[in-house]
Amino acid sequence: MAKRIAILGSTGSIGTNALDVVAHLGSGYQVAALSAHSQVDKLIGQMKRFQPAAVAVTDDAQADRVRQAAEGTRTQVYVGAAGVVQMVERDDIDIVLAAIVGAAGLPAVFAAVETGKTLALANKEALVMAGSLLIPLARRRGVTILPVDSEHSAIFQAMQSGRVHEIKKVILTASGGPFRTASLEQIESATLDDALNHPTWRMGNKITIDSATMFNKGLELIEACWLFDLPPEKIEIVIHPESIVHSMVEFVDGSVIAQLGPPDMRTPIQYALTYPDRLHGVSRTLDLSRSFSLNFHPPDFERFPALRLAQHVARLGGTLGAVLNAANESAVTAFVAGNIPFGGIARAVEHTIRSHAVQPTPTLDDLLKADRWARGTAERFVNAVSV
Ligand code: NDP
Ligand code: MG
Repeated sequence: MAKRIAILGSTGSIGTNALDVVAHLGSGYQVAALSAHSQVDKLIGQMKRFQPAAVAVTDDAQADRVRQAAEGTRTQVYVGAAGVVQMVERDDIDIVLAAIVGAAGLPAVFAAVETGKTLALANKEALVMAGSLLIPLARRRGVTILPVDSEHSAIFQAMQSGRVHEIKKVILTASGGPFRTASLEQIESATLDDALNHPTWRMGNKITIDSATMFNKGLELIEACWLFDLPPEKIEIVIHPESIVHSMVEFVDGSVIAQLGPPDMRTPIQYALTYPDRLHGVSRTLDLSRSFSLNFHPPDFERFPALRLAQHVARLGGTLGAVLNAANESAVTAFVAGNIPFGGIARAVEHTIRSHAVQPTPTLDDLLKADRWARGTAERFVNAVSV
């Protein structure tokens, strides 16, 4: 029987790449459900093309247009944040590709794990916030979490060369983003256009800005700790500007296993959907007939404070993951709105983390409260002082 896939955030960068992959895979893979927030024209186009059994639209104001488009078709329409959760709970879904951006994606990720679906996870923010609850829940439910993030897909693939206790460390690669060689002063006053000009990847705006601050790598460090059950000390961040080596695992005997490929998200998306099989790919492949070089450098914790903040958060855990994530989302929104300079993002996050009284073993309610508290604290910091 075909694998029935729900693609959450189908109108986004990961979502559209995922639909490309499913269309390429053909029979054996079926789009069962889609979700979008505001881009309803795009969603309606996807509904016509893939004829899913269900769609969800979270922006209530757009719901009527989607209902109209679904009239006379087999597609059932769900509305609002609760609608996405209800849709994920359906029993005609095998795999949930979670590609909603930010903490907004968390309820659907929980619903997928709770109802025993295989989870293909792009929405790293969900794990950063609530890994302490999601990972044990996935274990209890026997749910497999397959990483979509390219680095984590690479680590997952490299880990298949040995056993968990044979791992010495994980080497998480980072392109370094658009400000890899910029001075502190240039970073401080970088514009939105500068921040959105990523040298190697084309992605949604939030993750692109996260790549420029390097909070993306910080979130990925925490994501890797949860996915692979590793302490942060066993994860080394290395700058690799070409984004060809997607990450590496070093084993105790000194062997380092890497996964390589051009920067194209369709490769890790496809692997998460076809795992444990490998099928003919739709992505670009590495052309080794021409010469090119691969470079590696240590990261700069001075120019990119996001990295040390994330290490601190990964070590302390508790509610701090939720606080880091929410403060960052809030600060990125303030930067995009033109309310703070680029350098103010890291300062707002640092202030929020330092002001937080950590709760070491939080419930979901505690995490949601910490998220709201952090958004409020970061906003007040942004409004009160010239950050
Ligand atoms: P995009 O901004 O391109 O897409 C985000 C998707 O989420 C869109 O479908 C959007 O709907 C939907 N969405 C936005 N806000 C809400 C909300 N409040 N409720 C429900 N849905 C919402 O992001 P990306 O595709 O780049 O990233 C998605 C996730 O994948 C992020 O967590 C990111 O970190 C992760 N990721 C992305 C990579 C990439 O290459 N892009 C690489 C690795 C991880 P609409 O557009 O209709 O408003
Ligand atoms: Mg990544």
